[in-house]
Amino acid sequence: MARILVVDDANFMRRLVITTLVPLGHEIVGEAENGFKAVTMYRSQKPDIVTMDITMKEKDGISAAEEILKMDPNARIIMVTAMGQRDLLSRAIAIGVRDFVVKPFTPERLREAVTKALS
Ligand SMILES: [Mg+2]
Repeated sequence: MARILVVDDANFMRRLVITTLVPLGHEIVGEAENGFKAVTMYRSQKPDIVTMDITMKEKDGISAAEEILKMDPNARIIMVTAMGQRDLLSRAIAIGVRDFVVKPFTPERLREAVTKALS
């Protein structure tokens, strides 16, 4: 069981992530709709895992992930991406994100990414 911060600018996506992970016993410690809030909440909540959208208007997920990893090199961040973001994904991997899940994802894929990030 993990404490999870869910970051996405789309409310329905946050709901989808939450309803996928809560039944596994994970605790949602915060939700953020932009990268600024994600960084602030990471600092205050110190979650075990962050699920991070890439495309957000105020500070995208890559910059937010970069900032979080600078603050905590052991941060476990799973990027949740739309298709066709290959360039952004290589950048995300280069800065140290653990895994990525492509939208639309199956519940199994997201659960697997979380389990893997925890191991
Ligand atoms: Mg988005």
